Amino acid sequence: MSLTNAQLAELCALTSEDLTGNKEKALRRASRKAYQWPEEAAALVAGDRSLTELDGVGPYVAAQLQGWLENPPEEIPEPPPIRSGFVTFARARELVASEPSRRRDIKGDLQMHTRYSDGQASIRDMAHAGIELGYDYIAITDHSKGLKIAGGMDEDTLANQGAEIDELNDELDDFRVLKALEMNISPDGSGDMEFEALERLDLVLGSFHSKLRLKEDQTDRYLAGLRNPHVHVLGHPRCRIFNFRLGLTADWARVFDEAAALDKAVEIDGFPYRQDLNVELLELAREAGVRISIGTDAHNEAEMQFIEVGVAAAIAAGIPTERILNYQPVDDLLSWTDSLKP
Ligand SMILES: [Zn+2]
Repeated sequence: MSLTNAQLAELCALTSEDLTGNKEKALRRASRKAYQWPEEAAALVAGDRSLTELDGVGPYVAAQLQGWLENPPEEIPEPPPIRSGFVTFARARELVASEPSRRRDIKGDLQMHTRYSDGQASIRDMAHAGIELGYDYIAITDHSKGLKIAGGMDEDTLANQGAEIDELNDELDDFRVLKALEMNISPDGSGDMEFEALERLDLVLGSFHSKLRLKEDQTDRYLAGLRNPHVHVLGHPRCRIFNFRLGLTADWARVFDEAAALDKAVEIDGFPYRQDLNVELLELAREAGVRISIGTDAHNEAEMQFIEVGVAAAIAAGIPTERILNYQPVDDLLSWTDSLKP
């Protein structure tokens, strides 16, 4: 049995803990990047290809990986909670390939960023990537003004972006770019943008980006976020990050029941180091019957591939496609957000 990318990731993380400086950094980075590799590292070696083809792998990391693949350690411990419950992109692709309609029927990606905030590509680039992926629509969800660190947009910038999207939509046939926003919400549930600016949008994600390391139960924060009349989707709810932050805790059954009662959605952020919601919580979400939104949180065109990580989580949790926004035609999606307008 050859080692999987998940096992290699754990070995990188564990080994990094005994190192300092550049070696520590390189292995720590590789442990995170291993979740983004599209193929198993073992398959590359078997095919006589260089491991440096993989993102985050230079000669030093490649030599480490090669060593482990040739002489696997006797035992690889179970990852600690901060690295648990993640699926590698390579494994997610296999899972999704076993149910091809789940990928084929996806009509859009509902979270991504552009140069309007902290992304690296233009709206046009992202739209063309969406067309390549066979979608009917994408939602551009740049950050709002409260999140200065990510270049959050104020109302004027959001209006300019909307005008650019309108022009692009006039040009594109059978493809729609949705005017959307990842609005920063405070722990008390309030947003950071004027009502008039939000009214013009097709879709609003509400996400927490502060006080993310609190240990106490955060149920009230989630209920408040969901009750914010402008929020349609609760973005990356747990706010966990692989090997960096555990994420918040709550009475999730209560949170999902409230979301279902309000007819709002909770997100699967498919970015490999987030995977938020994760499978365990998605099973609770399925029981509550709440709507699910899948977004890649892509910051460039290539990262839009991570839709399969989100799809794999939905498959693993047994979420029926009827409850997932991304399988809906754009008109149904828009009539849903319309029905929620305050
Ligand atoms: Zn976010």
